[in-house]
Amino acid sequence: MRPDDLLQPTPRGLYCPPADVYIDPVRPVEKALITHGHSDHARPGHGAVLATGTTLKIMAIRYGEDFAGTTQAAAWGRPVTINGVTFTFHPAGHILGSAQIAVSWKGLTIVASGDYKRGRDPTAEPFEVVPCDVFITEATFGLPVFRHPDPAAEVAKLLASLRLFPDRAHLVGAYALGKAQRVMSLVRAAGWDQPIYMHGAAEKLTRFYEAEGIDLGEVRLVKAADRKSLGGAVVLCPPGSMKDLWARRFPDPVTAFASGWMRVRARARQGGVELPLIISDHSDWDELRETIRETGASEVWVTHGQEDALVHWCGTVGLRARPLRIVGYGEEGEAEPADLAPASVEPAA
Ligand SMILES: [Zn+2]
Ligand SMILES: [Zn+2]
Repeated sequence: MRPDDLLQPTPRGLYCPPADVYIDPVRPVEKALITHGHSDHARPGHGAVLATGTTLKIMAIRYGEDFAGTTQAAAWGRPVTINGVTFTFHPAGHILGSAQIAVSWKGLTIVASGDYKRGRDPTAEPFEVVPCDVFITEATFGLPVFRHPDPAAEVAKLLASLRLFPDRAHLVGAYALGKAQRVMSLVRAAGWDQPIYMHGAAEKLTRFYEAEGIDLGEVRLVKAADRKSLGGAVVLCPPGSMKDLWARRFPDPVTAFASGWMRVRARARQGGVELPLIISDHSDWDELRETIRETGASEVWVTHGQEDALVHWCGTVGLRARPLRIVGYGEEGEAEPADLAPASVEPAA
């Protein structure tokens, strides 16, 4: 049997013919298995969805309770069998509830890892290495230039700036699902004990993280705060809000942005980011290569991002590898900061 008999890339996403299900389909399908709640992986409108209970709740928060015809919660490590194919969910360490899905049939195991990272993160279940024959990996940061520094050191830069400019609000651009809560958690770990403020777009998801037992300290809504208390405050907001009317309530803010892309200084400059914070929820070049080796897989399929570089590296160490080139994984959680650019420097259409 060839691995393609068990899983194959199609325009709708990764398809498993013997079970007749898709993993993270990019278009509506009858039966979908979802790795995690980011919108490029978790889309509404499927007939039936199998995902971790946490991912199902995140989808309900984002899309409404009727986001799918029916839902089934997968427990960590407990196989679910569909037409003789077993599917087992293991933590991916990317955001809360994020899973790798191990697909086993007739002695062959393929792991679809979704998005993943290896670094410690109290806001996500830690990544688990799952031995397999074929490992499907993301490659969002699959180039040697991407080596993520210690996130604690990045957050220390933010706190140093707050000491330097104690009257200026520090707006930290961070995506509402996963990144915002992780930055809050890192800020707490660094010893910041004042209230943290957030844009309304992050409210429901942040309250959900808290309800799931993630301690973020006191988190308040910006719109409930008086202007004075926002001076010198840490304010988490979606990247798109930093150039709109919403941001004008802060007289002279310091603008920060938390993303793995901040490793590329030119991108930070183009986006008008004064304080780039290299904080990523994806594996860097070293983590990608280590993880591939640890799974023991003899074959690697590479998806969204710098596919060619990682495929090439696999070849140099004797692993079979191919790019999947599935269109539609844009990465909500780690999009590039283009939308940060102030209107005045955007090229004329
Ligand atoms: Zn993601
Ligand atoms: Zn992704």
